[in-house]
Amino acid sequence: MNGGLALEILGGRMAIRVAWTRAEIVDAVEALFVHHAARLPDHRDARIVVKPNLNNDLVGLTGNSVDLRVLWAVLASLGRRGFTDVTVADGPNVGIDRRRINVAQRLKVDAVARAHGARLVDLNRDPGREVPLTGGARVRVATTVLDAECLISLPKVKTHAWAVLSSALKNHIGVVVGQDKRRVHQALAPNIVALHDAVRTHLVVLDGVVGMEGNGPGDGDPFRLGIVAASDHPLLNDLAVCRLVDLPWPEVPCLPFALGRGWLTPAEVEAVGREVPTVYSIRRAPPLPRLAVLAEHRALRPVRRLARPLVHRPLLAQGLYRLGVLQDHYDLRDSTFSLVRRLAERCGSCHRCEDVCPEGRTREQIGLEPGACLDCLYCWLVCPHDALEVSGEAGSLARQIARYRPILARI
Ligand code: SF4
Ligand code: SF4
Repeated sequence: MNGGLALEILGGRMAIRVAWTRAEIVDAVEALFVHHAARLPDHRDARIVVKPNLNNDLVGLTGNSVDLRVLWAVLASLGRRGFTDVTVADGPNVGIDRRRINVAQRLKVDAVARAHGARLVDLNRDPGREVPLTGGARVRVATTVLDAECLISLPKVKTHAWAVLSSALKNHIGVVVGQDKRRVHQALAPNIVALHDAVRTHLVVLDGVVGMEGNGPGDGDPFRLGIVAASDHPLLNDLAVCRLVDLPWPEVPCLPFALGRGWLTPAEVEAVGREVPTVYSIRRAPPLPRLAVLAEHRALRPVRRLARPLVHRPLLAQGLYRLGVLQDHYDLRDSTFSLVRRLAERCGSCHRCEDVCPEGRTREQIGLEPGACLDCLYCWLVCPHDALEVSGEAGSLARQIARYRPILARI
């Protein structure tokens, strides 16, 4: 697709735009809100919940969690329309929840919400109300989303070792409170669909700027997709994403289940295949190591429960990560890294820092005044000349820096 291309499919039910830089993302998201104005509430004090994907503490540019530029643009578009009751809410994965890691703070989602006067809610701490899943199981779903008058989902484009693709349908797992998410995973595909029966999404705004491929969602590689899109249904979003990244939809287990619910007709599915171009060939998640499959076996549930405290130990976690049993292991030390200044003598004037800055700072404004910005470090992560200076302890960022900074300097 060419830069700036705008595409509408299924008679306008989904609109797709190309966007890579912060300026392009802000323009594209605003255009998508204009296009889908009818999906928004008609009264300004409606309870709106924006549900980004905060799967774990990997920064948005890795392709794992929401890109702060997209979140910023969505909140700005809502603010421009005068909505006064906006909440940013998600419940990160069970490993994060068990360790009580504050993902919103690590990812600077809290600072973005604050900058736009939006509330922030950790859905893992929400009291929740029970909803049924398949096979008689029940889970608590956050009251924050059940009581919302308008739910806006911000999914990513990620490969997923168990679910094949993580986008809008999978993004809904975050509405389940805390460790109840484990019950969803016991029959993942039908339960994802059951969650969508319980909680309706009014608008999907796809964050397809940086995607994740390979061993996703916790250990894959970021890739440049450069797309934002908006649609009226999570299933439509996911079918379109499959086309965009060359992933046959029948291979994504929850999609045939979702189609069985009659949310789209066969003719509409066929039209998505015809109208959406393929722009990237995604590298899929590798087959799960036998040990990982064995570790998840239903019969081993009691053993897993007993072994959980041991897995928190850093050395064991590292060993299991190397064996492929764990995709992610967490550092309990928060990062205190903060942007200090730009070193003009090293700066190659490439403007990459400007392109990624969620606040829209110019190169001259970046690092001008320590502590004055979000301190998301997107600019530092992508700078190819190491021209930005940070101070503090890397903490939880240390592993991400080693794993992802060399890739981010290239994409
Ligand atoms: S990314 Fe680095 S080298 Fe490029 S303009 Fe920004 S500070 Fe300078
Ligand atoms: S200047 Fe850098 S650290 Fe500050 S908000 Fe912009 S990208 Fe993030």
